[in-house]
Amino acid sequence: MSAAGRKVRLSGWGRSPVAICPLLRPGTVTEAIGDGRNASSLIARGNGRSYGDASLNSAATLSTLRLDRLLAFDPVDGLLTAEAGLLLSDLLALFVPRGWFPPVTPGTRFVTLGGMLAADVHGKNHHIDGCFGDHVREFELLCGDGVVRRCSRSQNVDLFRATIGGMGLTGTILTVTLSLRRIETPWILQQTVRCRDLDETLAAFEAARSAPYSVAWIDCLAKGGGRGRALLYHGEHASSSAVPTGRRAPRLTTKPPRLRVPVDVPQWVLNGWTVQAFNALYYQQGRPGSTLIDYQHFFYPLDAIGDWNRLYGRRGFVQYQCVVPTAGGREALLQLLALISAGGSGSFLAVLKQFGSGCTPGQGGLLSFPMAGYTLAVDFPVTPAAFSLMLEMDKVVAGHGGRLYLAKDARMGSDMMRASYPDLDRFRAICSAVDPDRRYRSLLSERLAL
Ligand SMILES: Cc1cc2nc3c(=O)[nH]c(=O)nc-3n(C[C@H](O)[C@H](O)[C@H](O)COP(=O)(O)OP(=O)(O)OC[C@H]3O[C@@H](n4cnc5c(N)ncnc54)[C@H](O)[C@@H]3O)c2cc1C
Repeated sequence: MSAAGRKVRLSGWGRSPVAICPLLRPGTVTEAIGDGRNASSLIARGNGRSYGDASLNSAATLSTLRLDRLLAFDPVDGLLTAEAGLLLSDLLALFVPRGWFPPVTPGTRFVTLGGMLAADVHGKNHHIDGCFGDHVREFELLCGDGVVRRCSRSQNVDLFRATIGGMGLTGTILTVTLSLRRIETPWILQQTVRCRDLDETLAAFEAARSAPYSVAWIDCLAKGGGRGRALLYHGEHASSSAVPTGRRAPRLTTKPPRLRVPVDVPQWVLNGWTVQAFNALYYQQGRPGSTLIDYQHFFYPLDAIGDWNRLYGRRGFVQYQCVVPTAGGREALLQLLALISAGGSGSFLAVLKQFGSGCTPGQGGLLSFPMAGYTLAVDFPVTPAAFSLMLEMDKVVAGHGGRLYLAKDARMGSDMMRASYPDLDRFRAICSAVDPDRRYRSLLSERLAL
């Protein structure tokens, strides 16, 4: 068992809400098991890169960051077993030079394996490769009844599916076994497509369907004929023959960036005008065509600026990430963009991505977020106007059969949760079976009555 947790102020990446939580920092899996068995109520926390309240529990929050050991690697099939607190940035630094890459990566490398599994993260390749959980062979889970269970597609199958995307509510993930994939170089062959409106953007996604990775940075404040204009990027891992001889390998870094936002930017700086001007500039500077870029710039552009979450001011910000099904998706997106541009408090850059139906339809995480369709992610500062706007956006999303991403959410109501996650009752039953007193809880689970 680790020493009694010191009380600290914690938040997610959006810096709202903030909670005072006793933070347990076990240094070994055995200590984590002791902590988990002793706490009256707790939640595991990785690197705090979920945006809202998912990794906060004011009775006890257990940091996994010291549980970061590599346990096994098979260089024949790329099967890696590691403790759940291993940071993706460390994994990349170790394995990319050896020709291996994670099967799915989110838009930041400062996340842990446990956090990736608990949120069942998706990447720019969801339309082809599904979610992170699709590539996890097995994991060990300390449950609320004190028992450590090994879970896979053949062992404790229900618990396996509840834990993938289960936001830490089935227990503490201790170790993860996943398949890495072979790459020949650390370079990505990237194509940039400039799209003048939403129809061009959606058509560009269709045209890029066979590209392994695709994502669009969308100007969510553009109005009229330019609504939905975007820069769409698609790419693939470059083969050795695509990289000019003599090209130096990109410098791999695990350290936080030198360029940082040093202070909380006052909220008045981010008004409709400045954000609109920034978005217009970004759109104009995008150069259509193909280029070779290193994987860090392709996958993690925001990681280049440290503490960028201070850009939205002291009160923090919320990321609104929704998905709407393909049928009716275009209309839903147009309605959402109309609401955002009329509201004027939208984010610097919104991200649009096309999801596929996943690798294991009907077998994925019970609370996993993706569904075949379009996902839009927009940042809003924490203001009453933005919260009213998001309520309007909820109606559009719910009306089209869509839902919100729990790893980003800080404000959804329990009604919307219940209506949009059809396997919620099954999820709750599985949690209760292994945690009869429901000791694994978070501010998110209480807010959403999970
Ligand atoms: C810049 C940025 C870009 C992002 N891009 C994407 C993206 O493209 N796709 C995407 O899907 N997500 C994305 N995210 C979200 C991020 O990938 C997820 O929120 C991820 O869960 C964060 O991992 P973490 O280790 O920081 O976990 P935390 O934020 O600390 O925790 C997240 C959840 O995981 C649970 N958890 C963490 N560790 C464990 C464990 N060992 N056992 C049990 N439960 C655990 C926590 O209880 C919590 O519910 C992005 C976030 C940022 C800041």
